[in-house]
Amino acid sequence: MIPVAAGELGFPVRRVFCVGRNYADHAREMGAVDQAEGREPPFFFTKPGDAVVAGLGEMAVSYPPATSNLHHEIEMVVALGGGGANVSPAQALSLVFGYAVGLDLTRRDLQAAAKAKGHPWDMGKGFDQSAVCGAIAPVAECGHPATGRIWLSVNGEVRQEGDLAAMMWKVPEIIAQLSTLVRLAAGDLIYTGTPAGVGAVLPGDVLMGGVDGVGGLQVRIVR
Ligand code: MN
Repeated sequence: MIPVAAGELGFPVRRVFCVGRNYADHAREMGAVDQAEGREPPFFFTKPGDAVVAGLGEMAVSYPPATSNLHHEIEMVVALGGGGANVSPAQALSLVFGYAVGLDLTRRDLQAAAKAKGHPWDMGKGFDQSAVCGAIAPVAECGHPATGRIWLSVNGEVRQEGDLAAMMWKVPEIIAQLSTLVRLAAGDLIYTGTPAGVGAVLPGDVLMGGVDGVGGLQVRIVR
């Protein structure tokens, strides 16, 4: 259950989808020049639904095993209140329940090794507590944010800063594309990609992030 801002009911999570390389500056820093220049079709990966860590106030996230390079990726999260297959971009926003600020935590060393071998990304992306999500702002409160600052700081120092307007694939397009691959349903979360500035965190670090008009989150990495 993810808390809903100013509401008594929580949002029950069904599945977690993530968009890869949706900001050109991040695609470039990952060495994916074609993705940065060409607006190639969005690609998706998933995390288990029970990888979600959600809460109000500071959330504790355990430093995961099997990595020495745990990266932060600040992202706007779309929470679906409806679903369907082959949804048109014009219909897509009607499926959205609300938006949240999330972290796509990544074991970058495992992801890089998987990429090099052509192996799946699952163990680099879909580990326990890898999908952090702040409170959901319902559409009635926040509308459908398409511009606005998205940022993340570590121990008070800003590491990531961008604008939703720089997303190569916009929320309606993401929903429409994803719905050609799977039938979407209420409870699905979509992490919409991260701007440049990803980097490593360590136990004891405090991460704060936000998206203008949506909200924020605070996370402490613990042993
Ligand atoms: Mn990501």
